[in-house]
Amino acid sequence: MNTQSKSGRKSLLFKSYIWKSKITWRLAVATFLTLLVMQLVFIGAYFFKLEVHYNQQILKMVKNEVMTSAVMDNMIKGSINPFDMKDGDAFKRLANVKGYRAYDITFEKLDEYGDVNGLNIDRFTTPEGYKQIISGKGHVDVLITAQDLNDLPFFLAFRLDNTEWHQGRLEETTQNAGLLIGLSLGSTLVILLFIGSWLLVPTLFLSETLRKASLSPEKPDIEDYPFKADDEIGTAVVTVQSLIRQNADNINRIKSAAQDQIHKLAYYDTLTGLPNRILFLQKLAELARNAINEDGQIKRWAVLTVDLDHFKDVNDTMGHNIGDAILRGVGKRLASALPDTAIVARTGEDEYAITVPMVTSITNAKEIGERIQNVIRNEPFKVFNENFQIRCSIGVATYPDDASDPEQVLKNADIALNRAKEDGRDTIREYVEDFDRAVQLRFQMLRDLRDALEEEQLTLHFQPQLDLRTGAVIGAEALLRWWRPDDSENGGTYISPGLFVPIAEQSGLIVPIGEFVLRNACRTAKTWHDKGHNVRVAVNVSGAQFHQSNVVALTKEVLEETGIDPKNLELEVTESVFMDDVEFTIETLMKLNQIGVELAIDDFGTGYSSLSYLRQFPIDRLKIDQSFIRNALQDEDDAAITKTIISLGHSLNLKVIAEGVEELEHEEFLLRENCDEVQGYRYCRPVPADQFMEFLEAYNGNLDYFKKQA
Ligand code: C2E
Ligand code: MG
Ligand code: MG
Repeated sequence: MNTQSKSGRKSLLFKSYIWKSKITWRLAVATFLTLLVMQLVFIGAYFFKLEVHYNQQILKMVKNEVMTSAVMDNMIKGSINPFDMKDGDAFKRLANVKGYRAYDITFEKLDEYGDVNGLNIDRFTTPEGYKQIISGKGHVDVLITAQDLNDLPFFLAFRLDNTEWHQGRLEETTQNAGLLIGLSLGSTLVILLFIGSWLLVPTLFLSETLRKASLSPEKPDIEDYPFKADDEIGTAVVTVQSLIRQNADNINRIKSAAQDQIHKLAYYDTLTGLPNRILFLQKLAELARNAINEDGQIKRWAVLTVDLDHFKDVNDTMGHNIGDAILRGVGKRLASALPDTAIVARTGEDEYAITVPMVTSITNAKEIGERIQNVIRNEPFKVFNENFQIRCSIGVATYPDDASDPEQVLKNADIALNRAKEDGRDTIREYVEDFDRAVQLRFQMLRDLRDALEEEQLTLHFQPQLDLRTGAVIGAEALLRWWRPDDSENGGTYISPGLFVPIAEQSGLIVPIGEFVLRNACRTAKTWHDKGHNVRVAVNVSGAQFHQSNVVALTKEVLEETGIDPKNLELEVTESVFMDDVEFTIETLMKLNQIGVELAIDDFGTGYSSLSYLRQFPIDRLKIDQSFIRNALQDEDDAAITKTIISLGHSLNLKVIAEGVEELEHEEFLLRENCDEVQGYRYCRPVPADQFMEFLEAYNGNLDYFKKQA
């Protein structure tokens, strides 16, 4: 054992916790009692042996004294009979004699003296012969035989006082007992010191180590084993310590892996591996905290939010695998197109947020937007060998120009993004403070629209649809009007459905509004039919309405209620309706078709229409979007599109109607291209129901009527 471990042991041994240990005290008591009992047994045996020895001494001494006494001398010489003579009393002077009896060899008692109670010769006889010493209380009886007296014919039984001797022994024993206890204590202590040093100290060290380890298993505050681990306990302690350390390592490893995982889940988007909105905001906050550089100048940075146009359509029609691959691809392209100092995050389903510090080389936030737009749109995304052309809308805001609060900067970029989406997508919009006002106005409009519905400010105007070959009025499109009262001369203004329908769609208010339109349109149509004008009424059904309410049930209900022939009702849906949930759309259109109502696709050519779908849908009519008609005379492309739509419609056995026909030239062009029906200002603007009735009564059923009017 080296000195360090020795002194370590010593210091640990005297550390108070050893003496507080239960096991120490149990061991101490057990050792002490064992030693005490052992010593008592030993002392008892010794005491007994001592008395035997003492008695033998006495016998020897008495024999000696008797033999050397004058009386004996005379007796030997035979000159006297000791018991006749007063000399016999000489025995009384022998040491400690309390009494005696003399017998002749026939055991006839000759004489006696003093305390002789029970000092009978018979007591000395035993089956084996006789014994010479009998211990009594406070005395010892000894027998001197004829043999001892050189064959003189006497037996002498002496009683000797041994109280003094006993007293002496008792004192000695008491002294010894004290010594014994002291000895036991001492031995206990010594044994304990050894056991303590070899067993207790390591065991208590082990127990202390385990206690500390259990208190904090992942960071156990355990000391090194201060001794040489050269015995079983030492090896056990060292093994336990290494297990504890391994365990702590394992816990820490698992914990930190779990923490990493949690951190990843909480702050990163699992699909793209990009930071999520929370982390993005934290990074913005960090940038804002360090916004002032060493020269005291403010570091500016741009925040851009990017939304993929019509991504939902791709996801719904092509499946989530493709959608996910595109989202990952977009993330990668964004990250690679931007400088290392940029932070790219995915903040929503198809939304990304980017922040780029504005340094000398990047001074214009909009330019960054353009770079992003190009990197997304210039090359299609290739997934499973298919190319997907993706476009995006981008909102831009700058710190600290547009807001000093980082969260507000992001909000402002979002506001700009919404504006970009409203402005027809595939665009970049920079935040301007007016946007806020625009948002406020939208809220105000939504509130007003709710009141409008209740206060009957909504009405329908009707615009005729004519057969291009016969000139007959075949239908009328019901167009919603909102008469909003104000302080102006007229007492109010008409608000365009283009302004309020999108708001109604976003808020779900389109459902009750749509119900109102359908019911009123059918009621009005009924009045025409009653007057003999068999005119079909066309009602616009928005995508939101289509998916948020039961259009089939409503249609049935209204048809029953108003009693018009189902074929005199046409529902116009835009192409966007097909994108949301194809199966549901087909099912609903089938049901409507079964009821017998006509179905038209409105604004055809502007959206994403798949030919294969077109064939599956039970449609009766395509409505060419008015933008193509408007430009058809000047723009070859628009003319070509118009022609294609007409022949496409015919190849699918559908009627084709052109809207937005304003000029005679439009009419002539459409006639040449074999278009079936027309609708537009050239014939009649959308007008209130009574004026529409007047038109019906006045019109002669010949398109020349409008030439004359013009
Ligand atoms: P839409 O269904 O394509 O309706 C045709 C729009 O073109 C109408 O605009 C109509 O007034 C306008 N128009 C008709 N002829 C001409 C023309 O010769 N030249 C020009 N420049 N415009 C012409 P309006 O009434 O402002 O409606 C705009 C859009 O609002 C409609 O487009 C339709 O999508 C929607 N909308 C109107 N009423 C309703 C409705 O009751 N429900 C729903 N969901 N949407 C409606
Ligand atoms: Mg329409
Ligand atoms: Mg239209």
